[in-house]
Amino acid sequence: MTDAARILVIDDDRDIGELVVATAETMGLRCTAMTDAAELPRLLTPDVSLILLDLMMPQMDGIEVLRVMGQLGTTAGIVLMSGISKRVMETAEKLARTLRLTIVGHLTKPFRLTELEDLLRGNLPQVKSTPARPCPHVQVSDEDLRNAMRNGEFVLYYQPQVDIASGRVEGLEALARWQHPRLGLLPPDCFIPRLEALGAIDSFGWLMADQGLKEARRFASNGCPAPRIALNVSVQSLKDLRFPDTFIGLARKHSIPAESIMVEITESGLMQEPSSALDVLTRLRMKNVQLSIDDFGTGYAMMQQLVNIPANELKIDKVFVENMHANSSDRVLVEKTIEIGHELGMTVTAEGVETNEQLEFLRRKGCDRAQGFLFSRPLPLSSINEWLRNRHERSAQAP
Ligand code: C2E
Ligand code: CA
Ligand code: CA
Repeated sequence: MTDAARILVIDDDRDIGELVVATAETMGLRCTAMTDAAELPRLLTPDVSLILLDLMMPQMDGIEVLRVMGQLGTTAGIVLMSGISKRVMETAEKLARTLRLTIVGHLTKPFRLTELEDLLRGNLPQVKSTPARPCPHVQVSDEDLRNAMRNGEFVLYYQPQVDIASGRVEGLEALARWQHPRLGLLPPDCFIPRLEALGAIDSFGWLMADQGLKEARRFASNGCPAPRIALNVSVQSLKDLRFPDTFIGLARKHSIPAESIMVEITESGLMQEPSSALDVLTRLRMKNVQLSIDDFGTGYAMMQQLVNIPANELKIDKVFVENMHANSSDRVLVEKTIEIGHELGMTVTAEGVETNEQLEFLRRKGCDRAQGFLFSRPLPLSSINEWLRNRHERSAQAP
């Protein structure tokens, strides 16, 4: 740990905060304690290299704090402190992983002083050497991002969504990429959180929707119904009550029927913005736009809330698909999601399918659709059309 590095303790219990600060100081480390989540953006400066976070706090939700940290893009190592069950810890860890945060340890309350000292001592070098961000080399300014929007540097790549039983390609998910003039093709993790923080995700969303709907007219259909286009929409955009009308206006402009469009909203987003989002989503559904709850399993949707969301599709997050074979709780989550989805009359799509073994498991469990590298990586429009034509020819030749 460098001299400048700092530790942050987030616990509503002042005594714990003071204990950690005192312990760290006797070890020659700088440490700040906070009891109010609202202080996080101010205190989470780049010199913070280790964060001790209490998961269970009455006034603030540790899970919510993890989300804010994800949005702030912290690279610090995180230690989860709690007296709660191992399962909750595991779930929080998974969430952290999907937020690209790095969990470096646990501290089960009540803990002994020696445990705390060991942790502070043992973890710091590791924290320093573990970069958590996917694109730490990318240094872009807010101005770069705004210019990129103006200059049309954002492009869409498409990834097929396949009906497991028939093998038919039912949809193409549009995934944004930044064709950076100097740095090459950059993935969304390098710019979506920044655009959200900048308050520019709304205009970015409209830009991508316009481009996607324009390109969807050119999807190769090979005589079959053309695949549906799936657009990722940030939950921030759903705060605007005019969203459904503007969206339908755009679809009309490009002559794409509403039922050929799937709007994907992340589960965690939905849980953050339940009321206004619900209004907008219900009106979109009434206009025949298809709705998908993305990254299912990483948020904390209660059955009650799930029943209220008028979605057509549940998308199982790739973290669970990836670990399905190794981890029994992930396997159960996948099975249960399929059951819940079907119980609520939704189609269930698994994302991140990379192996035949995963596909077979999903087929046996009755999962409807699959998406992943097993079929294709996301490709630009011309390549995805070629892929669609090849696949069509292959299936036509099959006995
Ligand atoms: P997502 O919607 O969950 O998209 C799926 C991600 O999984 C994509 O990453 C895709 O490339 C990746 N993926 C697909 N199949 C596999 C597989 O078999 N294995 C593995 N390991 N990964 C697979 P990508 O393109 O980097 O997108 C990341 C996230 O960025 C998306 O997650 C979505 O939340 C967000 N995003 C992308 N485009 C847009 C956009 O236009 N607007 C908004 N608001 N968000 C977007
Ligand atoms: Ca998605
Ligand atoms: Ca997803």
